[in-house]
Amino acid sequence: MTYQTIRGFRDILPPQSDAFSFIEKISREIFTLYGYREIRIPAVEYFELFIKSTGETTDIVQKEMYRFKDASGRDLALRPEGTPGVARAYINNNLSQTGLNGKYFYIADMFRAERPQAGRYRQFEQIGAENIGASSPYSDAESAAMLAEIFKRLGAENLRLEINSLGCPSCRPKYREKLISYLSSQKDLCSSCLQRLEKNPLRVLDCKIDGPKLTDFPSIELCGDCAVHHEKFKKCLSLSKVDFFENPKLVRGLDYYQRTVFELKTSSLGAQDAVAGGGRYDGLIKDMGGPASPAVGWALGADRAAMIIEKRWGEFEKKSNVFLVSADKERGDYCFSLAQFLRSENISCDFSDFSLSFKSQMRSADKSGALFAAIAGEDEEKNGEVSLKNLFSKEQKKVKKEELTEIIKRSL
Ligand code: ATP
Ligand code: MG
Repeated sequence: MTYQTIRGFRDILPPQSDAFSFIEKISREIFTLYGYREIRIPAVEYFELFIKSTGETTDIVQKEMYRFKDASGRDLALRPEGTPGVARAYINNNLSQTGLNGKYFYIADMFRAERPQAGRYRQFEQIGAENIGASSPYSDAESAAMLAEIFKRLGAENLRLEINSLGCPSCRPKYREKLISYLSSQKDLCSSCLQRLEKNPLRVLDCKIDGPKLTDFPSIELCGDCAVHHEKFKKCLSLSKVDFFENPKLVRGLDYYQRTVFELKTSSLGAQDAVAGGGRYDGLIKDMGGPASPAVGWALGADRAAMIIEKRWGEFEKKSNVFLVSADKERGDYCFSLAQFLRSENISCDFSDFSLSFKSQMRSADKSGALFAAIAGEDEEKNGEVSLKNLFSKEQKKVKKEELTEIIKRSL
């Protein structure tokens, strides 16, 4: 028998894994530009945390959680998203008292037991940013613009930033009522939507199952403060030269959002078109027992981000600069020492097996994509030299070990 990965889980191999590293690197650079610092949170939390924060009526909590009891009977879950853990950490560690900003980013795997399909996995990576303690619309715009900047630097094309405002506890209840009465008049709502209708009518707009086309749904009437907030948010996106589209149907799948929500969508991934989503969650930290702390944040899906830059994967393929080849079996120690010497000079190199034939080693050298083969036989060793062959121009010459670094570095 052979072992297989579990359905929905997968191995990420080069050069795709290099694409992930690239996305993480670009993200870290942008986070630094924007004053965010890294937070690392546990992969396992009490299940309760996610009911309280992600929300009891969300798809994530109702259908997608990896929930389990550990040996001592505690009710635990693998994290399905990052915000609950960051919010918990913010409260537990009294981060509101540090005198520093509350800007944190994380790069972490998430787990959701959803139906696997293209672009949808049961373990996937999210890169997320939270700005806790920030109430102004400048922070919303800063957060969304930072997200847009990451994708711009990734060279991703055909992206669309959609935004909406969900209002606040003062304007949302009226909208809720209007929405419930509108939705109640709709036929053919799916069975989850019928259940959600009273508890969480906004979520019905987010239903992914084919139902009635909800085109003439009522839109929210924002209260004065929310309207001002939303206008300023849009103005600052424009000041950041970030294009956006207002989508009154955008509600996001989580309970904690208020006012600003946004989603970054791509036209190149078919049904799984969301590459990132976020918004403002002013009530969450207080609801969880912390100090009243307005906040705004987002998470991007690294797996989908990697897919939309698939054209670039070839650029990430890492090749050694030099491939060591021994002309005969006795030259192993000499070649091995040369390899370690080159590495100490920051020149990447590789070799196959010095006991193999010269021909076979040269075949590996050609395949490796290295610029040079460094070949050593008895004469070379005696004279402290190596035959350096440019594997592209096929030019070959003997060089002294002392000159090797200089010559190679000049050609790179
Ligand atoms: P979707 O509508 O695709 O289910 P979502 O609203 O559940 O997305 P969020 O919880 O907002 O997604 O997570 C943010 C990002 O994480 C998404 O935009 C997406 O890129 C990514 N993501 C979410 N679920 C998965 C998954 N199962 N596999 C891969 N990426 C995912
Ligand atoms: Mg989802």
